Amino acid sequence: MSKVRTGFRWRPQLPAATALAAVTAVLLLVDPAAAIVPQAAAPATVPADLGRLADEQASVVEVILADSAELDALVATGVDLDHHVTHTGDGIVVHAVVTGNEVATLTRAGFTFGRVLHTPADAAQRVAEREATIAAHLAENREYAAAADFSARSTVSDVRIIRADYYTSGDTQVLSVEAKWAQGQTDSSPLTVERDSGPGTEIGSGGTQTISRFVDAGVYLYHRGAAEVTSRPAYVRITSPSGDVAVAKVNEWLPVPDQNPEGPGYMKDFVASYLTPTELYDRIRALSAQYPKISEIVELPYRTNGYRRKAQAVLGTANDSRIGVDSLAWGHHGGNDITVELADPGVADAPLTVTVTGTQVHVDLATDGSGTVTSTAAQVVAALNAQAGTLLTAYTYRGSAGTGTVAPVARTALSDGLAAPASVSRDPHPVYAIRIGKHRDGSRLGVLAYAQEHAREWVPPLVTIETAERLLRNYAHDRRTRDLVDNLDIWIAPSVNPDGGHYSFYDFNSQRKNMTNHCAPATGGDFLGRNSWGVDNNRNYSEYSLFDGYAGASTSCTSGTYAGPSELSEPENRNVDWLAARPNVRFSMNLHSSGNYFMWSPGAYATPGRISAPRPTLAEESLFWGASSRILTAIKRHRNLAVTPARTGPIADVLYSAAGNSGDMLWYKYGIYAWNFEVGTSFQPAWSEAHAETMEFSNGLVELLRVARDFDTDRKRPTSSLSVTASATPGMVDVTFSTSEPAAVFYTLDRSRPTYASPLYGSAGIREGGETLTVPVGTTVHWFSVDAAGNVEKNYKPDGRGNNHNKQKVTLPKR
Ligand SMILES: [Zn+2]
Repeated sequence: MSKVRTGFRWRPQLPAATALAAVTAVLLLVDPAAAIVPQAAAPATVPADLGRLADEQASVVEVILADSAELDALVATGVDLDHHVTHTGDGIVVHAVVTGNEVATLTRAGFTFGRVLHTPADAAQRVAEREATIAAHLAENREYAAAADFSARSTVSDVRIIRADYYTSGDTQVLSVEAKWAQGQTDSSPLTVERDSGPGTEIGSGGTQTISRFVDAGVYLYHRGAAEVTSRPAYVRITSPSGDVAVAKVNEWLPVPDQNPEGPGYMKDFVASYLTPTELYDRIRALSAQYPKISEIVELPYRTNGYRRKAQAVLGTANDSRIGVDSLAWGHHGGNDITVELADPGVADAPLTVTVTGTQVHVDLATDGSGTVTSTAAQVVAALNAQAGTLLTAYTYRGSAGTGTVAPVARTALSDGLAAPASVSRDPHPVYAIRIGKHRDGSRLGVLAYAQEHAREWVPPLVTIETAERLLRNYAHDRRTRDLVDNLDIWIAPSVNPDGGHYSFYDFNSQRKNMTNHCAPATGGDFLGRNSWGVDNNRNYSEYSLFDGYAGASTSCTSGTYAGPSELSEPENRNVDWLAARPNVRFSMNLHSSGNYFMWSPGAYATPGRISAPRPTLAEESLFWGASSRILTAIKRHRNLAVTPARTGPIADVLYSAAGNSGDMLWYKYGIYAWNFEVGTSFQPAWSEAHAETMEFSNGLVELLRVARDFDTDRKRPTSSLSVTASATPGMVDVTFSTSEPAAVFYTLDRSRPTYASPLYGSAGIREGGETLTVPVGTTVHWFSVDAAGNVEKNYKPDGRGNNHNKQKVTLPKR
């Protein structure tokens, strides 16, 4: 289906440097094959298939847009966009994930490209970095094991204590110990730590605690663990299973004297490299095995269609003489063994014949009286289907009539094109969640976090793993963690799209969708279309979808935002629907990357007119806003990253329409307070950045759990006050608000009643340090505050008629 682009004007008024960069982007990306496409003069239509070739890699490239109408038009092409929308002085800049041919198609349609931001080479570097990290850790383990191996004669102990830290928190005392054991790579035994009970006392007199292995990506890093103690030990001792001994002095960790909800002794930082879906599932399984009383693994009801494909080939070059072939068996079930050869028999008046020997298919093409090959693609397709139909299916290329004469093709192996090691299952893949909570019977408030709807987003799954580890590993000694785990029912699904995830790691780093081929031979279902298939899992849900007439999803099976054949057609989506249907789930976080956004419903609108799905009521929205300031403050605590107000709010306001997204399904179908994180700055950043993003957004996710817990218990209304200082400008004063707890403040300066539609004062979490309003002396400020549980100051009703909000006339402060 073609989309007609009308109703907006082109305005490519770019500074010279940007325009130059745009030209460079196109030059860098265009595949030489694209040059054969004639340059039409800016047609008004964009083809449904943007022309991505199979072996073309995709890059992240800026698209320079004049306005939101042009953004909607770009979204309507079905192009694969990441989650950046930056409003600049002259328009909007978004990031598209496109190949050279797609850039060419869109450029012909009049779109303007800017800088190239992320290339396949960058992704290859991330994978190399990950492999090198894993290899280095393994080598270190081997070296240590070898050095400690001769323990009878060697002075190298097979166990060494990395650190031993003592903390206090209120009247709780905690000892945290980290140690490395030479056998840790191969032996999963925990280690026992013996404590003394103070200076000069005997080791063992303070009791013992066990510490367990910390394994990341299958590599042992060290043992770690914390426990409550009853006195401050001076020394600890670990005796390894082989009898070697290590002793270390205990350090006192300086407690952080603030309202940091992570008390002293709070452990974090549990991921050391990117993790594939297989590794993510292994990780939660191992965690649950270690903490069976407070967690369990749940296999979700629907298996994926699998990291698997039919083996395929496209023979020939010209479209009307090309032949596509697909094996009947999956590639790994024998399809990859099939070969096809199209031979010139070298004699005159030869008939078209097909010979099948085992898995080898040999075609002798027909010739005329002078020995020239005469078989057309349609004839060869018919012969292959008749004679080799037990092995394969043949078809003409992309709906061509196949009237062109076939050229001979040397023996060609069919291939599923899948490069992952055999350790990645080719079967329909189970999808797992870890369920964390002391009471996992549905009686407690439920919170759901899920990641990797989009395969190439490698950081969000790590955020979920880091969060699960923080909950489980701090449970025994951290009061506030225990409060969450004892009173919430927490569902964490680290990868809901494992097939796409594996494909992104091993085959095509820009993969966004799942791997299911809904294309027919005529619409790109052949070997050359394989990097464009799949359903965008975040467009396949059931509320305000493409099928309901909303914008921002595509009917084209090769589009980056393909909505699938029908709502909830995909197992990945049915799994999320199943999770959301748990009746006790009231809060959720859908983790994506990137762009540092924090968003909620509505996430879709209909065009033209941008008529959005219904907005939450003002009271409901107050909870979204109130919780936002807490969650964003928690994120900021890690390295002072501020998610900006421009990137906080309903998806449809701050990003673009995304018909059929999961957040909307959770909110509109199930009434779940459903948020979306867009983590970090790119899909696969360098590890140091990925690590920092994991830490900061895990802070945010844990804070969401605290919000949920407070929602369950908090009935206390916030209070707020105004402070007034002299302004540098004569006749003006500077005004700031402060609140008794994290809360959103809405205010007016025109004497009108403040409502949720009034200006939102930036709290410290949202804007740097709380903004300063400079207003004329004598202005009357009207305002109220609302906390994350939806409690409004003084029980004021912002959507009612009362006037019991705060008001204050500001005057020059006395000196
Ligand atoms: Zn995404």
